[in-house]
Amino acid sequence: MKVLLADEYGFCFGVERAVDMVEEAVAAGETVRSLGPLIHNKQEMQRLAHEGVTAIESPVQITRNETAVIRAHGVTPEVQKELEEKAAKVVDATCPFVTRVQRLAARAAAADRHVVIVGAPDHPEMIGVKGYAPDHAFIIRDETEIDMLPRLRKPMVVSQTTIKAKTFFDTAEAIKTKTDDEVEIINTICSATRDRQEAARALSGMVDAFYIIGGRHSSNSVKLLAVCKENCVKSFLIETEEEINPDDLIGVNTVGVTAGASTPEWLIQRVVKHLEEIGKKQSLELKP
Ligand code: SF4
Repeated sequence: MKVLLADEYGFCFGVERAVDMVEEAVAAGETVRSLGPLIHNKQEMQRLAHEGVTAIESPVQITRNETAVIRAHGVTPEVQKELEEKAAKVVDATCPFVTRVQRLAARAAAADRHVVIVGAPDHPEMIGVKGYAPDHAFIIRDETEIDMLPRLRKPMVVSQTTIKAKTFFDTAEAIKTKTDDEVEIINTICSATRDRQEAARALSGMVDAFYIIGGRHSSNSVKLLAVCKENCVKSFLIETEEEINPDDLIGVNTVGVTAGASTPEWLIQRVVKHLEEIGKKQSLELKP
């Protein structure tokens, strides 16, 4: 049985960078606490907890001798300031793609323009971005929420980094009805999610079974499962190799593997190794 990995899988650039920054702080002997879970993966959080990295829910929980980590989603300028005042050191792991959206929002607000951010209002990334233009920004999920907007002044439209391009452009088009001014549309979607889905789709047409490694509550992993199922009915979402049922692989010649953006490489390699072992065992059993 052949095990094939999708061309793009696992940690996105921003998550990998955040984990590397935390590892560096740990190696330097610092007591590291992230504001909110650093990553949405139970196994990686457990591994980091063994290294002494814990999560806090609010900046008030940080103490003077600790290093505070801002995760890839970013935070509002107020929260960043509070962390800087309280912690011994702040590691800012805001993904550079998110920093770009924050800067664009701040720039528009400084010019007294309105900013419309297309995304989920309760998502931490959106809360952080709005904090850069608190009196000028509005967050809407899609074009169905257009009536929530007032008349807009020289609006700039940007997006949450992980939304679908169609949602963004349809909403941006609808926003034109809310102003007499020119609308500046800046696509700030990051390609990580789309790249992983396209790679999974391409591979799913060439395999007999597919394993997607990721949390059951991770939306990008659930979406990867749906994409794989379009071409490969034997597609399974698993958190670890222990969830693989060898019976599902009987008669399977080629198996595909991909992983959500929060799944660490060590966990992916463990799954691949386990699948290869199942394959070897099954081929030995088939030999006369
Ligand atoms: S999905 Fe994109 S924007 Fe979000 S953390 Fe990863 S690389 Fe950065």
